[in-house]
Amino acid sequence: MARFIFITGGVVSSLGKGLASAALGALLQARGYSVRLRKLDPYLNVDPGTMSPFEHGEVFVTDDGAETDLDLGHYERFTGVAARKTDSVSSGRIYSTVLEKERRGDYLGKTIQVIPHVTNEIKDFIKIGEDEVDFMLCELGGTIGDIEGLPFFEAIRQFSQDKPRGQCIFMHLTLLPYLEAAGELKTKPTQHSVKELRSIGIAPDILVCRSERPIPKKERDKLALFCNVRPDAVIAAEDMDSIYDAPLKYHGEGLDQAVLDAFGIHPAPKPKLDIWKDVSERVHNPEGTVKIAIVGKYIQLEDAYKSIKEALTHGGMANRVKVKVEWVDAEVFDQADAAPRLAGYDGILVPGGFGERGTEGKIKAAQFARENKVPYLGICLGMQLAVIEAARNLAGIKDAGSEEFDQERGDKRFTPIVYHLKEWAEGNRTIQREVGDDKGGTMRLGAYNATLKEGSKVAQIYETTKISERHRHRYEVDTKYRAQLEKCGLIFSGMSPDGRLPEIVEMPDHPWYVGVQFHPELKSKPFEPHPLFRDFVRAAVGQSRLV
Ligand code: GLN
Repeated sequence: MARFIFITGGVVSSLGKGLASAALGALLQARGYSVRLRKLDPYLNVDPGTMSPFEHGEVFVTDDGAETDLDLGHYERFTGVAARKTDSVSSGRIYSTVLEKERRGDYLGKTIQVIPHVTNEIKDFIKIGEDEVDFMLCELGGTIGDIEGLPFFEAIRQFSQDKPRGQCIFMHLTLLPYLEAAGELKTKPTQHSVKELRSIGIAPDILVCRSERPIPKKERDKLALFCNVRPDAVIAAEDMDSIYDAPLKYHGEGLDQAVLDAFGIHPAPKPKLDIWKDVSERVHNPEGTVKIAIVGKYIQLEDAYKSIKEALTHGGMANRVKVKVEWVDAEVFDQADAAPRLAGYDGILVPGGFGERGTEGKIKAAQFARENKVPYLGICLGMQLAVIEAARNLAGIKDAGSEEFDQERGDKRFTPIVYHLKEWAEGNRTIQREVGDDKGGTMRLGAYNATLKEGSKVAQIYETTKISERHRHRYEVDTKYRAQLEKCGLIFSGMSPDGRLPEIVEMPDHPWYVGVQFHPELKSKPFEPHPLFRDFVRAAVGQSRLV
């Protein structure tokens, strides 16, 4: 049965709890254990799928089609363990399950209360698959003291009591602010945060303290004394140059050792850290730089494209170069000329997105990349717009567009090269959707297979003709225009296994021009860069040597 590690946060948000959890998962794996990481989010949305990227950053999609928190992306990137639907839950999901059960009469007429009904639902969630792994790491979103987080804290407290002694530990992340005037790192906010945690019955076993500078022994001892943890369980988490240093840094600080000590595991198996040494070495010793433009709409918030940015970094590591990402706002050249803003990049990437705003600019970016032979990677909406660009400017369908934009506006302006998909096959099932359906969870979501054309560029890149990639979209390129577009040089080189849905387009006459209907970035890892990102960056390196 799994041992459980509960990871909570205090003092301020955005401390990097997700990263610390992911790095700890990787370190436990390095010691030969199997792990699974889970995220419990206190907000009332049922899932992040309907939240704006400005609110919540990227939506991370799992193979089994869940729209989850971006921290699950960190978990996958560090552990390589594919996340599942059952690895992410929110208050909204918990409450809606409880209310469904109440309506069904499952509670036999009882009064429904936060304790025990909501807390039991949370505990049942935490337990899912507990026999499958050695360690289950559960990260609680938010910070201690948040009103909506209380049922989660109560549930993990109860959970640790339900389990035999020594099977659960608590790790708390806090911040040690540095006061210039005092010339000191201050421990008081951490003391208060731990006091708050203890007031609800949770005593942390391990403290991870974020700080801008090294924590002197005096402060460590003080924290240990006042927060009632062992001195070697006070772990310093200084700011790092790269997130991929986290496993080695945390190991150096003794985090994994402290965790194993807290569980009483002696002797601890020796860690094998070669993978992370290699990753760190590649991050810190690039032999060159390439500049890639991400032409998007949500560029003020880089978290909206988190996985893409990481996948580009991985592509850089594979080619031993540093990828310098620049964010370009597509709306800037909706009306204007794109060339002045796009000249000088070694590659152009148009990511996924929703709605019409900014799309004319992105179409211009695709055109610029095609005409100037700059490597282009279009992801999801970025592929759809590349097809629309080719339809308009190569196939002469001047009013080519997407049904998505007409539906949004409520009039009909475009020839729908990209149409609203209302029926598709998922294994042996047929899925059906209508225009007015709920927004949540109703897209074509999760892993679907695709068949690649023999001899195509993508078949060479993937080194296979059968792939599986993750999807999140409602609209689809219409195969009606396939012959016309292929005649103009835009080849449909990846299709769904039934041949109905285009998955990949490419331009054989261009050095590197690929559009994919899915999200390859979600499966890239630093120790296993995604083939498309590896090859896109390779092409960008080639481009940078041309100038
Ligand atoms: N808006 C487009 C669709 O729903 C693309 C979605 C995306 O880029 N993830 O098909």
